[in-house]
Amino acid sequence: MHDFAVIGLGAIGGATAAELVRRGHSVVGFDRFTPPHTIGSAHSETRMIREAWYRGSPYMPLVRDARRRWADLERTSGRALLRPAGALMMGPEDGRVFAGSRLRDAARPDACDILLSAGEVVERFPWLRPDPGTVTIYEPGAAILSLEACLEATLEAAGGAEGAEGAELRFDEPAIEWSASASGVRVRTERGEYPARRLAIAAGAWTPHLLPELSLPLEVERTVQYWFEPAGAHSGVLGEGPAWVWELEREGTWYGFPPSERGLKAGMHFQAGRRTDVERVDREVGASETEDLRKLFARYAPGVAGALRHASVCLYTNTPDEDFILDRHPEHPRVAIFAGGSGHAFKFAPTLGSLMADLLTDEPRRHAPPIFSIDRFG
Ligand SMILES: Cc1cc2nc3c(=O)[nH]c(=O)nc-3n(C[C@H](O)[C@H](O)[C@H](O)COP(=O)(O)OP(=O)(O)OC[C@H]3O[C@@H](n4cnc5c(N)ncnc54)[C@H](O)[C@@H]3O)c2cc1C
Repeated sequence: MHDFAVIGLGAIGGATAAELVRRGHSVVGFDRFTPPHTIGSAHSETRMIREAWYRGSPYMPLVRDARRRWADLERTSGRALLRPAGALMMGPEDGRVFAGSRLRDAARPDACDILLSAGEVVERFPWLRPDPGTVTIYEPGAAILSLEACLEATLEAAGGAEGAEGAELRFDEPAIEWSASASGVRVRTERGEYPARRLAIAAGAWTPHLLPELSLPLEVERTVQYWFEPAGAHSGVLGEGPAWVWELEREGTWYGFPPSERGLKAGMHFQAGRRTDVERVDREVGASETEDLRKLFARYAPGVAGALRHASVCLYTNTPDEDFILDRHPEHPRVAIFAGGSGHAFKFAPTLGSLMADLLTDEPRRHAPPIFSIDRFG
């Protein structure tokens, strides 16, 4: 019997398995596919890691801890995981993106954000055209995570780096059912039944299917990422950064990444009416969706996006308050749950994996913040 079973080896489940292995436990992990795959929430090349959005919130120590852990993994795995690029948080002064990223600790000596007017943005980054009322927080230290490399490095670590005893990672083997009793847990797949002492569930957009008894208020949201040919006079410098998260009064919030070999990646963040179920997601990307994004480029970053190279559907799993769920199952204390990544969990993955491991081992080194509690939904 293994000490721990983990259902879902994506961003958070993979990190949970790796951390349990690092602490010397025996682990069996299951994924319905072979991560990194393109069916859930963790694919498409890049994720931002930035602090500005989290300043003054319980996430701040977590984002700093995660950055340190990603850097450690980069060193031990020998893979390039983090690329400094900087990030702009842009929008109206009273809007969510700017207000959420406000310079709460601007007076502190370690605060390094820069406040820019619309004109100053154009001076520094002449390919961008913010409206006159737009205010921007520029975080030069923000970085880009290479998503697939991060996942591969994490799963390699879980599988047992440098000859250490690793987890038994069972890919393409969905957990059909799990159960828990006073003496342990069991996971059933098409290939067998696996007993363990405790269980972690980190099934991303599939969570409602694995935990129907909890009726968690999770909404799975379809979202599209696009890659365009970098174009125009500035195409040579776009790759240096920064990335942007840009709230617009009418159109919503969009983001863009400095181009990679794959292209200039951009998409919309949170849009009403994209609710779906993981089993019924429309994976086709319509021409009118692409056209909507092209209109944003034409207005706010003209000439930068050339031919469309690729588009890919990805999933958010949102909680109503966009805070994660990281807690014990209310009826089965042997089971720990991570859910509700709400479009921002990837950057925290190694830290969330460690918090999951703390919950599962009853050796709390750090407690998960109360905002992650499952009770908050009543
Ligand atoms: C377009 C987009 C942009 C984003 N940008 C950012 C960003 O810039 N910064 C950031 O921090 N975050 C970002 N995110 C969010 C981040 O990627 C997700 O929050 C994170 O990947 C969630 O991790 P997870 O482990 O919960 O889910 P996943 O990584 O999807 O993993 C869940 C895994 O569970 C497996 N699984 C499900 N059911 C079963 C089962 N029954 N048996 C076995 N395995 C199962 C799945 O196959 C999957 O591999 C973005 C997300 C999207 C979609």
